[in-house]
Amino acid sequence: MERIYTESDVNQAALKGQTIAIIGYGSQGRAHARNLRDSGHDVIVGARAGGKAERTAKADGFRTVSPADAAKEAKLVALLAPDMAHRASYADDIAPNLAPGAALLVAHGFSVLYGQIAPREDIDVILVAPKGPGDLVRREYEIGRGVPALFAVHQDSTGTARDKAMAYASGIGGTTAGAIETTFKEETETDLFGEQAVLCGGASELINAGFETLVEAGYKPEVAYFECLHELKLIVDLLYEGGLAKMHSFISETAKYGDLVSGPRVINAETKARMKEVLTDIQSGQFARDWIAENEAGKKNYDAMMQADLDLPLEKVGAELRSHMAWLNTDTKAATATTQTEAKAA
Ligand code: NAP
Ligand code: MG
Repeated sequence: MERIYTESDVNQAALKGQTIAIIGYGSQGRAHARNLRDSGHDVIVGARAGGKAERTAKADGFRTVSPADAAKEAKLVALLAPDMAHRASYADDIAPNLAPGAALLVAHGFSVLYGQIAPREDIDVILVAPKGPGDLVRREYEIGRGVPALFAVHQDSTGTARDKAMAYASGIGGTTAGAIETTFKEETETDLFGEQAVLCGGASELINAGFETLVEAGYKPEVAYFECLHELKLIVDLLYEGGLAKMHSFISETAKYGDLVSGPRVINAETKARMKEVLTDIQSGQFARDWIAENEAGKKNYDAMMQADLDLPLEKVGAELRSHMAWLNTDTKAATATTQTEAKAA
């Protein structure tokens, strides 16, 4: 079994007295900044003048400076802006200003693994990736627990890079829940594969294909929605709490038999071969090249594909049915926020 690191494994001296700059005050950045401050670290926020990040960070009581000044002051810069912003942020603000021996930290290895950032040789480059959305990272920390984290070292110029990564993971609550050591390559490739093949891409296509199959066979869309989307939550909760065993122990004998004989007819060797193709494109860098090119071209294909998803009959039926679900509507804002954060968590 893989070693799980906890608080007693952490060398807190690695970050003691070192100013930490957070650049990117969104889902992850805001949670990291607040947890690190409450863990006793000196935290500043590097934000663009007049932006939402600057306003929010100030309202949370942080000193904000420009991203370039943040990089100048800090011994550790956590770059928590969106992955597609990393190249410019590193080149323009961080590389010219970060002191030798300081650390650059990311929460996902994409930009480093795929060469968007070519780090200076005299800095440490580390990764701490909580396995959860920012609001959960904050909430769990506040109640004295934490969200499990992965940590990794890409470049160790000082001999203390690994200790810094573990101390940062501790500061955001990651070693309270247990941290696992990985590499930039493993974190990035498995994260991308998970969200593409299983969590986001796989799950949404599975749901919609099931919904369409029932509707095309003449069943009511409303009934199909309940069977193929709504009830998935119950199943996922059981899987999350106790794996396949708990899920099986809560469903009927008939459901279990159907699961065993029909599941492998839907997700079969053919599906797995497609999954391997997806993984190959991630490993070869093809997916990253496509996504970077899509961004550079103004995301026209991305926008069109996203709109096609939002226009699906599944979405129309779902919106109507959900408007009658009192527990979702009592706090529409919170429900929406949770949905958005959960989507981003992947
Ligand atoms: P996000 O919420 O989209 O972050 C947006 C923030 O980045 C805003 O504060 C924005 O500031 C700022 N920003 C955008 N471009 C910037 C630039 N060029 N310079 C400085 N600040 C800039 O991002 P996120 O989802 O937290 O993701 C951050 C990193 O964490 C990514 O590497 C991601 O892969 C990783 N990650 C995310 C999650 C998650 O749950 N979301 C989980 C694990 C890892 P303005 O308000 O000024 O626009
Ligand atoms: Mg992900």
